[in-house]
Order: sequence, then structure tokens, then C-alpha cells
Amino acid sequence: MTKFKPVKHASTEAPQKPVSLRIPLARLNQQFLGPYRLSFLICLTGLLIQSLLILPVPLLQGRILDLLLPFAEAAEQGRPPIDVSSQLIQSIATGLALIVACQLLRTSLSWAVSNTMGRISQEVVVQLRSALHQKLMRLPMAYFDAQQTGRLMARVTSDVGSILSFVNSGLLQLVNDLILALGIAALLFWLQWRLALIAMVVMPLYLLNQMVFSGKIRQLSLSIRSQVSSIYALLSERVSAVRVVRGCAQEAEELAQLDKRIDHHRELSWKNTRTSALLSLLATLITGLGTLGVLIGGILLIGQNRLTMGELLAFYSLIGQLYGPIVRLTQFQATAQSTSVSIERLCEVLDEPETLSDSPDAKPLITPQGAISLENVHFRYQPDGPEVITSLTLNIKPGTMLGIIGPSGAGKTTLLALIARLYDIVPPTSQGEVRFDGHNIRHWLLADLRKHIALVPQQALLFEGTILTNLTYACPDASEPEIKAALEITDLQTTINHLPNGLQTSVSERGMTLSGGQRQRLALARSIIAKPAVLLLDDCTSALDAETESRIQESLAHNLPGRTSVVVSQKCSSVRQADLIIVLDKGKIIEQGTHTELVGLGGWYSATFKAQTTALIDKIYDEAA
Ligand code: ADP
Repeated sequence: MTKFKPVKHASTEAPQKPVSLRIPLARLNQQFLGPYRLSFLICLTGLLIQSLLILPVPLLQGRILDLLLPFAEAAEQGRPPIDVSSQLIQSIATGLALIVACQLLRTSLSWAVSNTMGRISQEVVVQLRSALHQKLMRLPMAYFDAQQTGRLMARVTSDVGSILSFVNSGLLQLVNDLILALGIAALLFWLQWRLALIAMVVMPLYLLNQMVFSGKIRQLSLSIRSQVSSIYALLSERVSAVRVVRGCAQEAEELAQLDKRIDHHRELSWKNTRTSALLSLLATLITGLGTLGVLIGGILLIGQNRLTMGELLAFYSLIGQLYGPIVRLTQFQATAQSTSVSIERLCEVLDEPETLSDSPDAKPLITPQGAISLENVHFRYQPDGPEVITSLTLNIKPGTMLGIIGPSGAGKTTLLALIARLYDIVPPTSQGEVRFDGHNIRHWLLADLRKHIALVPQQALLFEGTILTNLTYACPDASEPEIKAALEITDLQTTINHLPNGLQTSVSERGMTLSGGQRQRLALARSIIAKPAVLLLDDCTSALDAETESRIQESLAHNLPGRTSVVVSQKCSSVRQADLIIVLDKGKIIEQGTHTELVGLGGWYSATFKAQTTALIDKIYDEAA
């Protein structure tokens, strides 16, 4: 059994060297932020005002304290109460009103900014996701051959998510923190430069502590995320292949593997908790040291009449608000780094060349005849890969049936993919020409070709929904008689009549509620309903018993007159009624003719036919015995 390789989480691929955000941000701005630039600037202005409004509050509080202090001192020393002048009341009331006004304005601005930013970031993400989705639908098959589905999914989910949180909060937080840190530092020096110097003395120690530990914590978080995705990857792979796991009696081994990963995850999480606790302990000690220094310095300065109690209070309050923004600014590099990697990875997909696009002079294919020919085709998947189709020339007349048979790996599926234009023949690595209705296949609009050529793969994939939504996937407005006819041809009508909800029966994910044969027939019916001019069947009745398969083959031939069909199969019985059968081996046609001609030829086809017939007779005898 293939051993599972731990999947690296997307974020672990982020290079640890500092990266510039300038280019990815410019790209994001140019491609997706365009329509929201004005709202974004308004939000930035709102945020600037919101941050600046923090600054006067501690000063006002200090001022009010200084005004009230003489009263407290008089009471404490047992002196007669001081007269409260109306000017004093007015000053205190103004101070309080200003504090309330600042807080109210800040709250309203914060509400408006986060609302607008939330909307902008959601819009940006919708645009990004839709651009990605559209791009993925247009990319050539070769791109998907070279990519792991999990990685593509990570781009659509986690990379987009990381951009969402960056646009939503990261960018604004950066501006907010910069304004706050500079504003508070300036205010501290303005209030009392000596005390500000004392407060700043511990700052390098504080930053050093943050930098050392946050580096470690970041590494640990990345490992934890990678471990979590490896647990999910193992789970999702094994759950979807639960039949194989049980069939090979590997339940205990699988559980042990999962436990090992969960244990590792627990160890990492515990280490992360301990490191974070140590960081927090040292940070508290250092800020405590700083605060103590400020307190001693403050008392000395008050003693020298260089500072008032109110100013000391304002100082304290401002220092408390200085550390947070500075720490976040030191951590910004990490966020910037991972966002930059996410933007770059998304741009990589968006910039991928679309080799399978329409040429500028491509023509619409309105009334297809279904004539297909291949002219001396040589094809390889990768430029440095082996030749999979070798000098293949073939002519399929409209309305006829071609059977393709041959050993596994002979190139049968590849041939169908070339006819369906899933791959283009790109010289010099591949050569020759595939023609449809007498013209190079690239002469026709790709969307029209897709509409008129239906490919039914061996693995019948069904989508979440009902049997009906699956049947009408390629032709949502199919009529009831059309659906019924397709069900008759594929011998599915009786099966569906016996289902509790008939056509409305839901098909669970990946069609697991239907048998393999039923799924294959459903996929076939789906293509028949789309009324294509060409039907390419890639061994798509392999899960059926011989009797049902030949009944469906006959029904197909009888009910779809005038339709060109190409049937790939491992069984001679599936292709015997074809107008022409080709035997493919190592990408070359080694025999061709009708069933009778090929049996008479005494070659590969004849030997295979004899072997399959003998096996069938043996089976019938065994069943009868
Ligand atoms: P068949 O359908 O006759 O079993 P295929 O057309 O699937 O054969 O494959 C023919 C050859 O091409 C095989 O050697 C196979 O390994 C190779 N092949 C098939 N698909 C790809 C692909 N996407 N990328 C690279 N090689 C491929």
C-alpha cells in the first residue's frame, strides 16, 4: 500500500526571507481594488481621525485630576473646604464633555470604518474567487495533470482567506498602529521628555523579547497548521477510500497512523502554549520594570515641581497604549510575508497561459455533421515525455460508430481526449492534425465543440443534488420525453421507478448511494440528453454485466441514428457492432476492420475475442453447475 506522505500546508511554503509587499499589493490594487479605491481612502481618513482621537483623552483625564487634586488634599489634611468656582466647574464639565465627544466620535467612526472595510473586503474576495474559478474552468488539462487538487483548493480557500483578512484588518491595523505609535511617542516627549526617555529605555528589551519569541511561536504555529492539514488530508483520503481500507483490513494501521499525527499535533500545541506563556511572563516583567522606572522618575519630578499628578496619570495611560501598536508593527512583517505569498500564488494561477483558447478567427459550429479525422498525429503529454500516440491516421465518417480496443496504456483515452480537444497538438513536441467536419479542430469555437462532442469517462462522476439535476447537468432545459428516452436507452427507467423519490432521489456526494453500474448508466444518460453530434464513450459501461452492456450498446445504435460514436472498451462484445474497429497498441493502430474481418485476421483482436468468449462460456457453465 502506498504510504501517505505528510502534506505540507500552504503557509509552510512561505519563504522565510523578508519579501516585499509592494509588487503583490500593486497587483491586488490594480486588478481588484480599483472600484473601491475611493471608499478605501475614505476609510483610511476615518481611521486616521479615529486613531488621533485616542490621544487627547489621557491628557484631559490628567487635567481633570489636577483640577480636583487640591480638594482631595484639603480634605486629607483636614483643611477647610475650598470654594468651588463656576470657572472650575465649567473647566471640569468641558473636559468631561470633550472626553465623551472623543469616545462617541471614535466609536461611530470605528463602526463606519469596519462596516465599509468588511464590505470592500468581501467584494474583493468575491471578485478574486470568481476570477479564479473562471480561470480554472479555462485552463488546459495539462495544467491539472501537473497540479495536486489539494494545492488548488488551498489557493481558492486559504490563500483567498489570508488576503481577505489582510484587506479587511491587516492594512488598516498597520496604518492605525503607525499613527498611534508615532502620536503617543510624540505626546510623551512633549509631556515630559525625561520620563519619556525612561519609558523608552525598556523598549528595546521589550521588542527583543517579542521578536525572539514571536519568531519561535510563528514557526510553531506553521508546524501546527501543517500538522492539522496532514491530519485532515489523511482523514479525507482514508474516509473516501474506506472500502479499500476495510478491504485490505488496514483499520488498525490507519488508526495508528492517525494517532501518531494527533500525538505530534498535541506535542506541538503544548510547546506553543508554553512558549506563549513565557513570552507573556517576560513581557509583563519588562513592562513592569518600565512602569516602575516611570513611577520613580515621576515621583522625583513631582517632588521637583516639574510634573503634576494629572500629567503622571496621562503619561501612564499613554504608555499602556504604546506597547500594543509597537508589538503589532514588529509582527507585521510576518503577516505581510504570508499575504504576499498568497497573492503571488493566486497571481500564478491567474497568469497561467490559456493554451486552449479560441483563435481570433474561430468559427461557430452551428450544424455539426460529426465527421472526425486524424492526420498523422504524434502526441506526447509533456515535451520531454514519451510519445503516447504515434503516426496515427484515422477517418470516422459522420453517423458511424468506431470501436477502439487494445491493451491498457495503449493510448485509447488519450485518443478520445484529442478528439474532444481536451489537449491541443502543439508542434514541435506533438504533430499532425485533428479535424472536425473537414476543418482543423481549432477552426471551431471551443464552446461549440464542447456542446457538440460529449465525452463519457470510465469513472462516472456525479454531482451533489438529485438524479434529475445530474441528468440535466449539461442540458438544464431538457424535456420530460427526452429524459425518459435517455433513461430507456440506458436501461435505467425501471431502477429509477423503484427509488422512493424517483428522479428527485438525492445522489449523495460522489454518487455513493448508487451502484457502480447505475452511476455509469446515469453518466451515459446525462450525455445522451445533451444531444451531442459526437458521443465518445470511454469504457463507460465497464461496470455492467455483459448482458446489460450489450443491450445498452444495441439500444444506443438503434436509438441514436445519425450520431457519430467512438466507443473505447476492453471487451470485444462492446465494439463488435461498430462500423470500424481499430486495435491500438503503444499509440499505434496495429489492426483495423469490422468485427468479422478482425476475427478472420487471426491477430490480437481474434486472440482476445477467443479468450473472452471462452471465459464467458466457462462462467455460464460454472453458474449452471
Ligand atoms: P489507455 O486508455 O489505452 O489505457 P491512456 O491513453 O490512458 O491509455 O494512456 C496512454 C499512456 O499515456 C500511458 O502510458 C499513460 O501512462 C500516459 N498518460 C495518460 N495520461 C497522462 C497524463 N495526463 N500525463 C502524462 N502521461 C499520461
